[in-house]
Amino acid sequence: MNISLKFKQVLNASLLKPLLASFFKPYCLLCVAYEGGELGLCKACLSDLPWHSAPQCPQCGLLSNGLICGSCLNLPPHFDATYSLFSYDFPLDSLMQHYKYRNMLPLASAFASLFHSYKLNGHAGIANIDLIIPMPMHRDRLKVRGFNQALELARLISKSTNINLDYSTCQRVKFTPPQASLPLKERIKNIRGAFSCQQNLHGKNIAIIDDVMTSGASLNELAKTLKEAGAAHVECWVIARTLAKSNY
Ligand SMILES: [Zn+2]
Ligand SMILES: [Zn+2]
Repeated sequence: MNISLKFKQVLNASLLKPLLASFFKPYCLLCVAYEGGELGLCKACLSDLPWHSAPQCPQCGLLSNGLICGSCLNLPPHFDATYSLFSYDFPLDSLMQHYKYRNMLPLASAFASLFHSYKLNGHAGIANIDLIIPMPMHRDRLKVRGFNQALELARLISKSTNINLDYSTCQRVKFTPPQASLPLKERIKNIRGAFSCQQNLHGKNIAIIDDVMTSGASLNELAKTLKEAGAAHVECWVIARTLAKSNY
């Protein structure tokens, strides 16, 4: 049997058909629906995602009556506003874990498009944002993971908003264990002095992009660094936010 005939027979094997079809007609990223849509998600999965649309504190994004929450009043964070697309709940939490650790870059495109459609279109102050800065990743971690998920999101959001992307001004100069493994007090101590900013950002309005905001300790420390470099206004633009109690 010649090789091309054998190859054809393999291609026609019924077990391989769904696999081949998946290359040409997209499945939903979350389920087996035969409908990927522009964002890679079917309509049912899209509406089932944990959208963060409840009244929230405009500064930290936690649930409130829509006004600045008690935590932000008592101990104001260094960032001025938070825009989060989702709450960090099922199935988004597992989806984000896939994105972060299994190199699922197509998801970045879906998240960035959704963020643009559902958050930035209603953002009155977006015209005033001068720069987009992704949460920096330490070079040693970058070597292991191979990509910075925040930078991938920031590239796409910068493109869709026409706001300049700056991923070189700020560096992560301190290698820290993953924040998720640490209790809150340790997170705050751990992240102190983690960032360095090389340029004068005098008067700039900056949006920091990150995939998940948990305690907010990293975003708060980066916002502090940016303000020390002269930034006038710093916002957090994140895909998902844990909605436990405030604790940056
Ligand atoms: Zn689906
Ligand atoms: Zn707050």
